[in-house]
Amino acid sequence: MAEQKRDYYEVLGVSKTASDSELKSAYRKLAKKYHPDMNPGDAEAEKKFKEASEAYAVLSDPEKRRQYDQFGHAAFENGGGGAGGFDFSGMDFGDIFGDIFGSFFGGGGGRASNGPMRGANLRAAVHITFEEAAFGCEKQLEITLKEECAMCHGTGAKPGTSKRTCSKCGGKGRVMMSQQSLFGMVQNVTTCPDCRGTGEVIDTPCPECSGTGYVARKKKISVSIPAGIDNGQSVRIREKGEPGRNGGPRGDLLVEVIVSNHPIFQRRDMDIYSSAPISFAQATLGGEVIIDTLDGKVSYEVKPGTQTDTTIRLRGKGIPSLRNKNVRGDQYVTLVVQVPTSLSKEAKEALRKFDELTGKTTSGGPKSVKAEKKKKGFADKIKDAIDDL
Ligand SMILES: [Zn+2]
Ligand SMILES: [Zn+2]
Repeated sequence: MAEQKRDYYEVLGVSKTASDSELKSAYRKLAKKYHPDMNPGDAEAEKKFKEASEAYAVLSDPEKRRQYDQFGHAAFENGGGGAGGFDFSGMDFGDIFGDIFGSFFGGGGGRASNGPMRGANLRAAVHITFEEAAFGCEKQLEITLKEECAMCHGTGAKPGTSKRTCSKCGGKGRVMMSQQSLFGMVQNVTTCPDCRGTGEVIDTPCPECSGTGYVARKKKISVSIPAGIDNGQSVRIREKGEPGRNGGPRGDLLVEVIVSNHPIFQRRDMDIYSSAPISFAQATLGGEVIIDTLDGKVSYEVKPGTQTDTTIRLRGKGIPSLRNKNVRGDQYVTLVVQVPTSLSKEAKEALRKFDELTGKTTSGGPKSVKAEKKKKGFADKIKDAIDDL
């Protein structure tokens, strides 16, 4: 029996009202994660990749999406005509890929391999602190880079022997194949399995590199992380990816930056959000408070009568712009008035006195409790807190 299919929207992790660009970006994320090139030999990843591709193929087509919304998977099961029911054969996955990825996967994968081909991009990740993201930093990274094998100079053939032209594809690197695919039987041109697209076969592989032409070496490289970078953004280091073929340049190394959370600051784009406690007396009378910023502590003059949760803006105390580090965002600080929880006898006495003087107390008055509760001001809340002590 066929497996129960998951809902296409669920597969892509988008809502039923997702726009084209949301669909595209959701699919792009999944496809990058599960693409067979990135997960060689991982059947689970391949399955996920196909599932996502199918979901995207349907939902990105307005007519098919309409049918799917109306009938669900049944829309494509009872269509009649052949094993697959729904006709996916007119769908060009190459187009979807070209459209979505551009040259993301290095050489694009589809071209004949005789000319120079750029190597695939490599990906790595680096963890940095909030401050390092704000002001930039240098990080050392150890990566495994393939380098041309010194013994065979990259040919893959044992020195003294040579490659021969592949007989299966006649050196073209591609063969015509009938394949049982997710969408029924399809005829397509595919990479030659004997020579893996190179058009040449090595009978006696080089012992140093086992015929690959490359050896893996660990390399330390220095990555310059620019000020203003945000979590999830990548730094591109040119030509530190996989080697090219036939004299093509290496791919790039894309280093994704993972920024750790900060105990005090939160970031949204170039702005920073934080909160700072102020005392009841400071809030009432005004005065200086000390606020933590990326540049250290700064003094801020609170206005008399400041209410709790008032947000102030510290101009230019945010994150520098990636384009120009002299341009900075702002810091928004929410002032939170602290209700005292343990007071000395004298302090309590002073507050009671304060309460009397401000005339808000109504002890023993005829007003209903409800009406009183509604009217409670901040001083009353403090009084309640003290009474509860
Ligand atoms: Zn070699
Ligand atoms: Zn071949």
